[in-house]
Amino acid sequence: MNGKELSKLVRKLQIVAPALLPVSVTTRGKLGGGYGTCEIIKRKGEPRIKITINSFKDFSKEEVVDILQTQLLVHEYAHATQWRVPRQEVGRASDHDSEFGVHYAKIYKLLGMSD
Ligand SMILES: [Zn+2]
Repeated sequence: MNGKELSKLVRKLQIVAPALLPVSVTTRGKLGGGYGTCEIIKRKGEPRIKITINSFKDFSKEEVVDILQTQLLVHEYAHATQWRVPRQEVGRASDHDSEFGVHYAKIYKLLGMSD
């Protein structure tokens, strides 16, 4: 996904999940060990949120696959810890509800993927 496509996705997100400040996104190589950052900056004296996503240009295909698979494992393992017996899961309105978010954050943190 290039910067233009990411910006389009951010515009969609700003409609369904608006941030307090305007959000922009860019890609860049070598992010100091991270895959993405989110920061509040000032542009022309006005605060805004800047998201930077690693371009992964300096990564091999195998490294990118490892990263993606790890992210997917966190997601799916969060389901594994969230789900209860099948009868209760039938009534769940969404697999990706706020409860899932709590489990996702817990797994993300336990794997040392957050500070
Ligand atoms: Zn899911």
